[in-house]
Amino acid sequence: MAAVKPKVIVFDLDYTLWPFWVDTHVYPPFRKTSNGTIVDSLGFKVSHYPEVPEVLNDLHKQGYVLAVASRTGEVVGAKQLMELLGWKQFFSHEEIYPGGKVKHLTNIKNQFGVQFNEMIFFDDEGRNIRDVSELGVLSILVKNGVTRKVVDDALTRFSKPK
Ligand SMILES: [Mg+2]
Repeated sequence: MAAVKPKVIVFDLDYTLWPFWVDTHVYPPFRKTSNGTIVDSLGFKVSHYPEVPEVLNDLHKQGYVLAVASRTGEVVGAKQLMELLGWKQFFSHEEIYPGGKVKHLTNIKNQFGVQFNEMIFFDDEGRNIRDVSELGVLSILVKNGVTRKVVDDALTRFSKPK
């Protein structure tokens, strides 16, 4: 029997894919230096959690549909950073603006014509996990950024009978 797979996987940005608040701890606009390092407008190096690019690439290659849900007010900076990191290619949809994650997840659900219980959501904040869980989305609290293990465990959990 084929494993049950989510139709859409949704990731928060701040403290889920990268280790800072893009509206507070770094200073957009960002740029890539000649050696490929990404820095903010003050010249500070900006990076992501180490396993994230590989995890996103693998999920994308396996055919999973990926989306972003972020409540940041730094919409332009967040999108610019995703572009510089080369992540835009992995994500089919972005919901990036202040407000509640219920709205973000509802828009993503409608965008792809799926059900809440066909999605997985990763976020570092308990309040977001609580709100989105109540919709019926399998919501995973991420402690130290997304890793291969975090994603693999979530996919395994999703595949088990509920
Ligand atoms: Mg966050």
